[in-house]
Amino acid sequence: MEPAHLAERLHGFGTTIFAEMSALADRTGAINLGQGFPDTDPPAEVAEAAIRAIRDGHNQYPPGTGVAPLREAIAEHSLRWHGLRVDPGTDVLVTTGATEAIAAAMLSLVEPGDEVVMFEPYYDSYAASVAMAGGRRRVVPLVEPDWRFDPDALRAAITERTKVLLINSPHNPTGRVLDAAEREAIAEVALRHDLIVVTDEVYEHLAFDAPHVSIATLDGMASRTLRISSGGKTFRCTGWKVGWICGPADLVAAVRTSKQFLTYASGGPLQYGIAAGLGLPDAYFDGLRTDLCAQRDALAAALRAAGLAPLPAQGGYFLTTDVRRLGEDDGRAFCLGLPERFGVVAIPSVVFYDDASRDRGRPFVRWAFCKRPELIERAAQLLSPGPVDPGRGYGAAHGHGDAIAG
Ligand code: PMP
Ligand code: GLN
Repeated sequence: MEPAHLAERLHGFGTTIFAEMSALADRTGAINLGQGFPDTDPPAEVAEAAIRAIRDGHNQYPPGTGVAPLREAIAEHSLRWHGLRVDPGTDVLVTTGATEAIAAAMLSLVEPGDEVVMFEPYYDSYAASVAMAGGRRRVVPLVEPDWRFDPDALRAAITERTKVLLINSPHNPTGRVLDAAEREAIAEVALRHDLIVVTDEVYEHLAFDAPHVSIATLDGMASRTLRISSGGKTFRCTGWKVGWICGPADLVAAVRTSKQFLTYASGGPLQYGIAAGLGLPDAYFDGLRTDLCAQRDALAAALRAAGLAPLPAQGGYFLTTDVRRLGEDDGRAFCLGLPERFGVVAIPSVVFYDDASRDRGRPFVRWAFCKRPELIERAAQLLSPGPVDPGRGYGAAHGHGDAIAG
């Protein structure tokens, strides 16, 4: 049932699956492979810079657009990694996580009745942000097993009312990294129909098997693209909620208009920490990618051994499995039983699908691998088939809530 008084445009959004499943993990002591957050701390340079900023008295409202050192660091990072030149004075806006950047972009760009085209499955806040703006979403399926989209389906989704393409690569939940042909198809549609592209690149440093190339770098695209990222994934500090959005000054100014009334400004001292992080040498970013790739491979092996061979995922934080391989058909029921059955928690991917496409999303389950190798190893033991050994246990009632469960 909807909460009393909830405005109709938010009906159906309930409680996020991440809150629900993290609560399930806490309650049962199961290993949380649901919500995508790392279980290690940010690099010392990043933490120290934020602590220093607090000690140095950066404790009052920062500028609404973000502190100058962070805006400059974002501009340098954009040039260094993407070859995209942005002016830290006009083309960069610091936000409270990528989540606020997405919401502010939708609130600023979308008129009631305008359509926003996105790929499905989609990160859950996209649908809510479009709904809060009074817009309508239209989805283009990413088709399993390799999660590609059909360029004709993208073309067919465009109408007179389409205003924005909201894309995400590396992708949550599937791990898909768009390839060159897909990027070109998106750019062609955006240029032909004069659309704004909002690209969510929070996993920009986590493309393992294929390079991540921002859509903003394609011919003609920089002037119509808003690029979103966040410090949370890159520096293992999802709780800091420091994100940003970059693009041409006129589009950024539009986004700033709503951002200033959502939060006005975002966590000042933490911005200094992220500024320090963005300036770390290449070795940091390469190491992050190598580590996460090894964690992906370890979790993939564990899932394979459990009879749940994951679908291909070239980047991001997550693997997807299909419960039909175990003779089941409902990913949500599977996830609700997971703590008891295996002592782990995962996310039913159906929540990333429209109601109309629920049947397609129903069998899929998303597993986070952004966890310490020892936690993944422990999850692998729990998932492994074979006789129950007394030291291993099945379910919280049998002793899962040990020190490793994070
Ligand atoms: N976009 C995607 C694709 C994400 O996966 C996430 C968080 N996992 C976000 C946005 C939100 O990022 P933030 O925590 O910086 O708000
Ligand atoms: N983005 C993270 C995930 O996909 C969770 C973020 C959240 O809890 N809203 O798991």
